[in-house]
Order: sequence, then C-alpha cells, then structure tokens
Amino acid sequence: MFYNAEMDKRLSLLSSQMNFEADGLPATNATPTCSRLKDVVIHPTVMPHGGKTRLLKTLLSSACERNCFYCPFRAGRDFRRATFQPEEFAHLFMQLHKAKLADGLFVSSGLAGGGIRTQEKLLDTAEILRGKMGFRGYIHLKIMPGAEKGQVMRAMQLADRVSVNLVII
Ligand code: SF4
Repeated sequence: MFYNAEMDKRLSLLSSQMNFEADGLPATNATPTCSRLKDVVIHPTVMPHGGKTRLLKTLLSSACERNCFYCPFRAGRDFRRATFQPEEFAHLFMQLHKAKLADGLFVSSGLAGGGIRTQEKLLDTAEILRGKMGFRGYIHLKIMPGAEKGQVMRAMQLADRVSVNLVII
C-alpha cells in the first residue's frame, strides 16, 4: 500500500471535521498526534467499564449527497471534503495504532451512492481491520440511513458499539 503526505492531509481534514459528531462517551481534551500527523486529533476517552482509551474519530468521507438542513456535511454547504477507500483507511489507522498513538476508532461517513453502499464501505473497513489486520481494539461504527438489517447485524458483530443519529422534528 502506497502512503503519501496527501493521505495524511486527508486524515487530518476528516478527523477535524468529525469534531461535530458525538461518540456517546465522556469527552476529555483532544490532542494532536505526532509531528507527521500533527493535525490528526486523537480523543482520550473514558470507556463505559472505566478504562481509558485514545480514539481516532473520523469520517470515511465528508462528501454527502443529501442536504439535511441541520448537518454540517450537507451537500449544499461549501467546505473542503475528502474521502478514503476502506483499504487505504484501514492501513493508515493501523499505522497510528502500531505507533501507539490510537487504541480505537470511531468512524462515520457522509452518504455517497445511498445508505446501503455507504454502509458497505464502513463494514469493509471494519472487516479489513478485524480480519486481514487482526485489530482487536475498540471500534464504533455509525449506522447509515437506509442500511439493511443484515448490515446492521454485521456491524454489531464487528464493532464494540454501533449508533444511529436520530433527529426529532
Ligand atoms: S445524510 Fe447524514 S451526513 Fe449527509 S447531510 Fe444528512 S445527516 Fe449529514
């Protein structure tokens, strides 16, 4: 797998944009990582059982085809967007993990090609991390609007936590 500075920049951009998203865990001060990935923000987090962990919170993609009015990632909003493919993202995360900079992962995504396709990419990412790369740490996966029941079940098998965003209008 080929790495370059552009991938680091994409991760920095996507992880900073994820600050909009709550992870359901008590927040502590987020910290930058290392000189190479200095703009990637890692979140020290207290787990439900009391242990501490360092979470990389990020989006797989901040591109979205929908225009939910309350959402900072809506299609009509003008801001810089970035996208990772599952394989390249999994490799990049494992670099951080092996460098002892991140213990776990919270990953969401904007919608591209519908909820089923987007969910598939999130599942592929978790599958690669769990299967191919043997990652046993914490994973929190977001469930996309329109995801199929089987995909939700698979997400629950792969991840420690899954969540959906509900908006009451
Ligand atoms: S589909 Fe999700 S990411 Fe896209 S605009 Fe709506 S809430 Fe935001």
